Amino acid sequence: MRMKHLNRIIVDSPVIEHNKITYRYKVEGLWTEAFNLDKVFYVEYGNIDIQGVPESIAVIPLIANLLPIAWIYDAEIVVPQCDQMFYDSIPKFKAGYEQMYPMIDFRGQLSVDHLEKNEWDSTGGNAAFFSGGVDAFNTLVCHYDEKPTLLTVWGADVAVDNADGWNVVFSHLKQTSRDYDVNYVTIRSSFRVSINEPVLDKKVRSLNSGDGWWHGFHHGIGINSHAAPVAWAKKLSTIYFASSFTAADKGKVTCASDPTIDNHVKFGSACISHDGYEFTRQMKVHNIVEFAEKSGIPVPLRVCWRSTDGANCCKCEKCWRTMLAIYAEGFDPHQFGFEYSEEQLRVLANDMRSGKDPMFGPLRYTAIQNSMKTNCSKEDLPSDIRWFYDANLEQIHHRAIIRQKLASVKHHLARPITKILHR
Ligand SMILES: [Zn+2]
Repeated sequence: MRMKHLNRIIVDSPVIEHNKITYRYKVEGLWTEAFNLDKVFYVEYGNIDIQGVPESIAVIPLIANLLPIAWIYDAEIVVPQCDQMFYDSIPKFKAGYEQMYPMIDFRGQLSVDHLEKNEWDSTGGNAAFFSGGVDAFNTLVCHYDEKPTLLTVWGADVAVDNADGWNVVFSHLKQTSRDYDVNYVTIRSSFRVSINEPVLDKKVRSLNSGDGWWHGFHHGIGINSHAAPVAWAKKLSTIYFASSFTAADKGKVTCASDPTIDNHVKFGSACISHDGYEFTRQMKVHNIVEFAEKSGIPVPLRVCWRSTDGANCCKCEKCWRTMLAIYAEGFDPHQFGFEYSEEQLRVLANDMRSGKDPMFGPLRYTAIQNSMKTNCSKEDLPSDIRWFYDANLEQIHHRAIIRQKLASVKHHLARPITKILHR
């Protein structure tokens, strides 16, 4: 006898109009708290015709985004149709989650009225998700000969209603597609706003997962499943999803995008491939500068999360880390999307040296320092960063941690006083 689930979502057939898929569903039970039901879940594909995509493929982005929620809430997902290949791959990528989070009991159920086999001759080649950072460019240059179609999601890092932010990403994407002579497809999706992220965050933290919802549970299959309708329309074969971590991190980090998860995701005749896992970040930077030198094709990296105009701010730790990594390979960051004056470099270097940022420490910088010693002599470097060559990273990191603790104590001490003053 089938167990009746108290938490349930009943999904209607997706509405497909031109290049847009809209999902309609009814949610029942206490897990309703995990949804923003006033926000419709839709996916809009730019510069591609998906009219005619089978319902069993069109529903995949929705199912993939519901699955992790259903697993932790023990909920049932009821859909009229699903692609057979995707359906069969679910237990395999679910096992990746189970191994990563042994403290959580992943339950739930997917009930499908009709499973459909979708197959195509993979004449459309491969594709790669592309955000413009080191990981994404590494994947692009490593697979340059395959001319992968670039897929960029609006609604992942840039909010789905942030048109200014998107315009920056979009113009960078168009420029890259011209420079590398590859096609691109944009994907605008409300997948992050149709669910209640703060509630889900709290839920997975209460289960002692040690990670948050977006990073630890959502972004992998949440994003890469959006490729299913594109794969059908363009007859794609492999879709690369760039790794953020490397094999040496295995077992030390949790992340929703992992080879044990991504590499099992399949739909129709296409599959996801977690790409670049064998490379450290420094090795990826090496691949990038080497490619740029040999091919003469520019690599305008976009790594900064702080800037709003799309350029790298050249003031934050992420910019600093990437700039140093390029110097360490014997190249000039100015050729890779970083614009700064000597004075700006001096200010940034002094900030980091004085322990302003706790991210600046051995964990992220030892590999950069080692490469620098292998590839450069101190005199080749700009005078303001020569100290980094043999800096004691442990000591600077320690200083940053103390500074951070002091700031937090000051903050707490200041609070009651402020209250009294305001009375
Ligand atoms: Zn920055």
